[in-house]
Amino acid sequence: MSADTRAVHAGRRDLGGPATRWAHVPPIDRSSTSALPGVLAGGDAYETLATGGRPGPADSFVYQRLWNPTVARFEDAFAELEGAPEAVAFGSGMAAVSALLLACVQAGTPHVVAVRPLYGGTDHLLATGLLGTEVTWARPAEVAAAITPRTGIVLAETPANPTLDLVDIADLVRQARGVPVVIDNTFATPVLQNPLAHGAAMALHSLTKFVGGHGDLVGGAIAADAAWARRLRGIRAITGGLLHPDAAHLAQRGLQTLPLRVRAQSEHATMIANWLAAQPAVARVHHPGIDDPQRICERQMSAPGAVLAFSLRGGYAAAAAVAERCRLITHAVSLGGVDSLIQHPAALTHRPVAAEARPHAGLLRLSVGLEEPADVIADLEQALAGAASAGQAPERPAARESRSAPGAGVPR
Ligand SMILES: *Cc1c(COP(=O)(O)O)cnc(C)c1O
Repeated sequence: MSADTRAVHAGRRDLGGPATRWAHVPPIDRSSTSALPGVLAGGDAYETLATGGRPGPADSFVYQRLWNPTVARFEDAFAELEGAPEAVAFGSGMAAVSALLLACVQAGTPHVVAVRPLYGGTDHLLATGLLGTEVTWARPAEVAAAITPRTGIVLAETPANPTLDLVDIADLVRQARGVPVVIDNTFATPVLQNPLAHGAAMALHSLTKFVGGHGDLVGGAIAADAAWARRLRGIRAITGGLLHPDAAHLAQRGLQTLPLRVRAQSEHATMIANWLAAQPAVARVHHPGIDDPQRICERQMSAPGAVLAFSLRGGYAAAAAVAERCRLITHAVSLGGVDSLIQHPAALTHRPVAAEARPHAGLLRLSVGLEEPADVIADLEQALAGAASAGQAPERPAARESRSAPGAGVPR
């Protein structure tokens, strides 16, 4: 069956029958605890779930942190769309990254080879070594040389946040020589790219973005084989990173329109990227649809995606002025929703990133929504014109030094 059909029906095959009392949509189970059939049976179920196992058909779920059927239903659906045996869902994308890093530490392979750019939070977590990992930053061509016997994973994003850099997944897998490659697939979604089909061991997602799709949930997920899923569930049970069942229900609903939304938003983004590339105030546009010298997009993605970035000739002042002058487009972090969002990565999402790897001070990231592209273009046009005539950012309080990381002051 086609991906569109699977997106609508995945995780629902037990519905519409006597076992679920003919329910048509997935029920939400909010129980924080479950009745125990007996002390021994309850203890056995606890043991199974706390070590990452799945419950048997008559087992108690014991406690929501260990297992929730609404979350499990979403995980089955998500795994199906990613072409993975299983998936494990977390309370945020960063909770998913944290569980993955803890799994590396637990296995005695705490070294991570990471390809920049990465989402600012992931970069920050790796750079601080907070969870006991060590990191070697590598360019895509340097990955093989960076691997040591202590390397647990190779981590990359493609397209990457915020500059949409593309990484050839199959090439990374060849270089990794058996070390699991994890691809943060948040920007592409399972609709446009399936990392496991190119040899990656895992696909990691912030569900907060395209999967939720409406800006009303926070969540994360990792699609993986059964052995990795078990490890990650065990860590999730102990550290408490489970996705909330209400968010799981919304995320599963999001899956049903994900193919339609992502393809339409990707087309809109390509139109807007082309328009931006023709504007004199714009120095460079980053979007896989118009900026892919190695032709990676056509090898591993079915469309370029809905996020783009552009840098302004006027640098930080011009970028800040444009972000603050947008009206239809909301000035906000996050991405992947049905409405367009714009933000300044160097000052916001990528503020904790080391100065040498921080995005250009004149760069803005735009997540293109489902609005008529001409309306989004008109908004950008008035924002660019207003910024040019003002010649600088609108009145604002003096920028303070950042407290999130040394040397991470707002670029001026
Ligand atoms: C947002 C994001 C994350 C983090 O996800 P949260 O749900 O915000 O914790 C990780 N990777 C990428 C690429 C993201 O855009």
